Amino acid sequence: MKGEMEMTEDVVIVGAGIAGLATAVALKRVGVRALVLERSQGLRSTGAAITLQPNAWLALDALGVSHKLTPIYAPLFKRYVTNVSTGDVQQSLFTGKGPRTVHRKALLEALADELPTDSIRFSSKLAAIESQEQGGGASTAVVHLEDGTVIKSKVLIGCDGLHSVVARWLGLAEPVYSGRSAVRGLARFPQGHGFKQEVQRFEDVGKRAAFVPLNERELYWFFVCEVAGDAMHPMTPDLGQGGGSSLEDAVVLGRHIGNSVIRNGALMVPGDMAKAIDDYVKERRWRAAWLVTGSYISGWKQQGGAKWWMMFLRDGVFYKYVFGWIAGLVDYNCGNLPAVSSGKED
Ligand SMILES: Cc1cc2nc3c(=O)[nH]c(=O)nc-3n(C[C@H](O)[C@H](O)[C@H](O)COP(=O)(O)OP(=O)(O)OC[C@H]3O[C@@H](n4cnc5c(N)ncnc54)[C@H](O)[C@@H]3O)c2cc1C
Repeated sequence: MKGEMEMTEDVVIVGAGIAGLATAVALKRVGVRALVLERSQGLRSTGAAITLQPNAWLALDALGVSHKLTPIYAPLFKRYVTNVSTGDVQQSLFTGKGPRTVHRKALLEALADELPTDSIRFSSKLAAIESQEQGGGASTAVVHLEDGTVIKSKVLIGCDGLHSVVARWLGLAEPVYSGRSAVRGLARFPQGHGFKQEVQRFEDVGKRAAFVPLNERELYWFFVCEVAGDAMHPMTPDLGQGGGSSLEDAVVLGRHIGNSVIRNGALMVPGDMAKAIDDYVKERRWRAAWLVTGSYISGWKQQGGAKWWMMFLRDGVFYKYVFGWIAGLVDYNCGNLPAVSSGKED
C-alpha cells in the first residue's frame, strides 16, 4: 500500500525512461536489485519512435535485450539530405550495421520485461531528497515521494530526465535552452507506404524535417524549428544520441558497480562504491562532452542561416569535413558487463 510508508532499499533509481530501465537491467545482470520510481502511472512512450545508432545496439547487446528488437525493426542503409532552397540532394550510405528506428514503447517494454514486476513503482513522484550521515564516511539518501512515502537508500541514481530533481540536488546546473524545438509523430499507411529503409531529411534555414520507415506501414517523422537524456547530459536531438548514450551510461555504470560487487562480495562497501561511481563519471565525462558538443554543432549547422558564409560553412566545410567525424561518434562500443554468478540475480 502506498502513502505515508517508510521503506529501505539498497539501490533506488528515479525515472523509468530509457536510462532508468537500462540501468536497472544492467544492475540486475551484475546481481544488484534496484527499485525504479516512476511518477507516471505506466511506461511513458512520449516521442513515438527513436533511432538507435550502432553504439546503442552494442549497449543493448551488453544488456541482453537487442535480440528482442532486431527481428522486428530492419536496419536503415541510406540517408538523403535535401537542401530545400537549392534542391541539392546529398546521399550517404550507413556503414557497418546501420541504425534502426524503433517504437519507444517497444524499447521501454523490452527493457522493463527483463525486470521483476515489483521492481518498478509507478505513480511515485520524487519530491525531495536529503542525506543522512551513517558514520564512517557512509551516508544514506532519504527520498521523499509526493504521496508521503519515505525511502532510505544506500545508492540513489537519478535518471529523471531533463529537469532532474536528483541532478539539481547534486548541484548540477539547469539545462540551457538550445533555441530549437521539435514535433514528432507516426504516420500510418494501412496499405503500406512504399518507402525503402532510408532516411529522408529536408533542411532549410531555421527548420528541418525528416521521415524514416519503422516498418512497411508506419513512418516516423519529425520537424525541428528554431524556437527549443537527460538528467546527466542533456543534449539537442540533432545526432539522435540522447537515448543511445543513456544506454551506454547504463552499461558503464553497471560495469563499475558490478566490478565493485565482485571485488567485495557485497554491494555496499562505502569507499569502494564511491570509487566505482567516480570511475564511471571519469569514463563517461569526455564521451558525454563530445556528444553534447557534436549534437549542438550538428543542429546549428543543419539549420543555419542563408548568408553566404553560413552556406559555405555548412555545405563546403561542415558536410565535407566535420560531419563525418561527428557521425563517427555513433560507432562506439561501450563494452560489456562483468559476469556475476547467477545466484545473486533476482
Ligand atoms: C525531438 C527528439 C528526438 C530525439 N531522437 C532521438 C533519437 O533518434 N535517438 C536517440 O538516441 N535519442 C533521441 N532523443 C533523445 C532521447 O529521447 C532522450 O535522450 C532520452 O529519452 C532520455 O532518456 P532518459 O531516460 O534520460 O529521460 P526520459 O526519457 O525523460 O525519462 C525520464 C523518466 O523519469 C520520470 N521522472 C521525471 N521526474 C520524475 C520524478 N520527480 N519522480 C519520478 N519520476 C520522474 C519521467 O516520467 C520519465 O519517465 C530525441 C529527443 C528529442 C527531443
